[in-house]
Amino acid sequence: MAPGGQPVLDHSYARELSGAHLPWTPSPVTRPRAVRLNHALAAELDLPAGWLQAESTLRVLAGAEVPDGAQPVAQAYSGHQFGVFSPMLGDGRAALLGELIDPAGRRWDVALKGSGRTAFSRGGDGRAALGPVLREYLMGEAMHALGIPTTRALAAVTTGEQVYRERPLPGAVLTRVAASHLRVGTFEFAARRDRDLLRRLAEHAIARHYPHLAAIEPDDERYLALLRAVIETQTSLIARWMGVGFIHGVMNTDNMTISGETIDYGPCAFLEVYDPRTAFSSIDHGGRYAFGNQPEIAAWNLTRFAETVGPLIGEDREVVVPRLIAALETFDVAHDRHWTTVLRAKLGLTSAGPDDAAHRQRGDRALGEGYLDLLRRGEVDFTLGWRALLAEAEADAVPGDGTERSGASDAAGGVRALLAGGSVPAAEVEDWLSRWRGRRREAAPGVEGLESMRRANPIYIPRNHQVELALEAAVEHEDLGPFDRLLAVLADPFTERAQDAAYAEPAPQFVTATYRTFCGT
Ligand code: AMP
Ligand code: MG
Repeated sequence: MAPGGQPVLDHSYARELSGAHLPWTPSPVTRPRAVRLNHALAAELDLPAGWLQAESTLRVLAGAEVPDGAQPVAQAYSGHQFGVFSPMLGDGRAALLGELIDPAGRRWDVALKGSGRTAFSRGGDGRAALGPVLREYLMGEAMHALGIPTTRALAAVTTGEQVYRERPLPGAVLTRVAASHLRVGTFEFAARRDRDLLRRLAEHAIARHYPHLAAIEPDDERYLALLRAVIETQTSLIARWMGVGFIHGVMNTDNMTISGETIDYGPCAFLEVYDPRTAFSSIDHGGRYAFGNQPEIAAWNLTRFAETVGPLIGEDREVVVPRLIAALETFDVAHDRHWTTVLRAKLGLTSAGPDDAAHRQRGDRALGEGYLDLLRRGEVDFTLGWRALLAEAEADAVPGDGTERSGASDAAGGVRALLAGGSVPAAEVEDWLSRWRGRRREAAPGVEGLESMRRANPIYIPRNHQVELALEAAVEHEDLGPFDRLLAVLADPFTERAQDAAYAEPAPQFVTATYRTFCGT
């Protein structure tokens, strides 16, 4: 913590990666006003007490002033957008103020989004509207509470300016805290520039996110290890998305981090009725980024990442390409491992130990996917479908062994009730349930299994209609009440609470059927 109550910002990105950024200058704003400040996050970061809510800070958070001693930059990056390469994207409406070091020694980017035009703005106005800013705030906090790696909002402020989308809207700036803003697209940018920048970027990424690889020699082995590490963290991330029904919506390579955090909440949304083909984004006509495609798209993006790493591995393509392919082949194995782990937790089978045979793991993945297939054919709400399975497990718990049902899950009803009257024959449901019960008896997960099953199967997710209601009240009526209420519900997504029953309800079918999300900020 700095004297004078100012956070100390470091600038390792700006310092080490010249050639991958341009200086950023603030834009005047009329009347900055704090809409929401994330005091919990400020405390985690050990920001000076009172700094976040200080009047002088507001001008910084609105993008109207540079913090003392800071050297903000707009970061350069390229990216494959819907499969098409754009060599020059970059922070067109964002700026990296600098980096904070938290009490544990971890480094965090503090960036603004919606903070005015930059050298990368092209035709854009560099601004953001309040609705999407609050949307990103809410989604990031929801994902954090679900235990999924994510960037987070430190603040949402309005600028007093109007931004023009289809109509005039209140302009706003999001302050975003991230493990870093290094993207696959940053590597794509550097790879097209020069070898020296690419090497500096790879070393920067290793030092920052994978320091345990720093000592690997020779260089080519270290860079291959970086590739494998990013494959590992990204497969872990995507499996977690798949476990809660999260649809990112715009998995372009510039929206995929090297750190393994979820980034850029634009058109994202959560599944309601389970259908892997679900895509809500208005611009995703072909369903490229549909829910069920996400693992495959991650593999595609990581292949683009591997291509950027290639020149660091060696000159001879005949040698380099097979090594990259071998690294990329770890994707399927890693994905299977992470996805199976997620499914096992959701099924209440978390007693996996080193003695758990591979064939059993395969069986557990098939068992979990079998349940998903029942949910799909029964057109069941993804979240409530899994919660119903938790209710079954709680009902099965033997009284007196400490695994009794909380009683809270009664409301979700059993699996039979959810699937009754649908297109899935009752005998198939019974058959699946008895296989699941058999496997649970064998795995004997006990109290721990039930508890981790609860934590793997949230009851509250950001329901599309609730998100829209909260944003509409905030933007149209300056009423933050619904936003705050929803934020509070999502802060503890696993514990069922009678007073929050409405937040567990699926959106009305007509809402889901016509629901569209938008990229624009
Ligand atoms: P995204 O859709 O957030 O992944 O952004 C894709 C690219 O468009 C990035 O380079 C953004 O900086 C740029 N961009 C999006 N909106 C704006 C805007 N309002 N002004 C300038 N650039 C923008
Ligand atoms: Mg983006």
